[in-house]
Amino acid sequence: MLATLYLSVLLQTVTIVPTVVVKPFPVYMRRDTTQNYIVIHYDDGIEPKSTLRWLRRKHLAYHYFILRNGIIYKLVDPKYQASHAGWSMWDGHIGMNRYSIGIALQNDSEQDYTESQYQSLLWLIDVLEKRFPDITVDRIVGHDDVAWPRGRKQDPGEYFDWLRIKLKRVINVRTVPTLAPYRDTSRDPIPLRVIFPIHDVVQLPSSVEAPIHRRP
Ligand SMILES: [Zn+2]
Repeated sequence: MLATLYLSVLLQTVTIVPTVVVKPFPVYMRRDTTQNYIVIHYDDGIEPKSTLRWLRRKHLAYHYFILRNGIIYKLVDPKYQASHAGWSMWDGHIGMNRYSIGIALQNDSEQDYTESQYQSLLWLIDVLEKRFPDITVDRIVGHDDVAWPRGRKQDPGEYFDWLRIKLKRVINVRTVPTLAPYRDTSRDPIPLRVIFPIHDVVQLPSSVEAPIHRRP
């Protein structure tokens, strides 16, 4: 026990796995898991409860929502589509809800992100990379990267330290929480009813150059 503790201090590793709380949201349809991206958001909310209420009211959902204390709320399993990206385009794909896993961090848009949030996020990315091996660092993008028209969204914003993500294998290799065995005990939610948020069914023009004047 003492030796393990000593070793973990020596290697600067943390063996604590973030708490994952399952809060199932209604599911719309299966996602195309042949292509996988991670889209990072902030919730731009005052407190988690109001964010969850707002999401339910709007029939939106992130797959995961990371609170400022590092607790991860799992709202939708990544094999299902969650409505988080809206009108979006990236890497030749139109409509990123179909291809991406949405992770939101609790932040009112003008706050620094907490160390606990980075640690939980890096841990979660490790879990997702193991499940969807095509997710590489360059497939982890911001909502502002994919939102269409460009400039429609700003999150995760200027306070988000992309270097922590992009270089995680180099600089965070010793501080990323050790990936302890994690068993997901959440059961598949039964689709309550099929709801297609309007911005998911509206097809974007196939040409990137085509101007869009209507916003969702
Ligand atoms: Zn967003």
